[in-house]
Amino acid sequence: MQPDTSTCKQDPGVFIPVIDRNKCEGKAECMTVCPYNVFELGIVSPQERATLSFVGRLKGTAHGWKQAFPVRAEACRACAECVASCPEKAITLKRMAVA
Ligand code: SF4
Repeated sequence: MQPDTSTCKQDPGVFIPVIDRNKCEGKAECMTVCPYNVFELGIVSPQERATLSFVGRLKGTAHGWKQAFPVRAEACRACAECVASCPEKAITLKRMAVA
């Protein structure tokens, strides 16, 4: 099935989604709504866990360190569906630097 591109605002590669590791709880709403299949669930690395806040580490432990990862970030077209859908408000869109 073709993705619904009616709400897409940018060409691919202009913006990428960034996940706040202190907020994500791996609820996967972003995976459901993204028309470009940008996200996958994964496990936060031990190195990254060590950089999180106390609350972030508590949340991570409670959810088995399962979080969303933008593994195909270059496909993002900045529709912001993932930003709106995330119950933890863990996603922002970041403009990529112009070469
Ligand atoms: S803004 Fe979010 S939902 Fe929309 S294309 Fe980018 S990653 Fe997917």
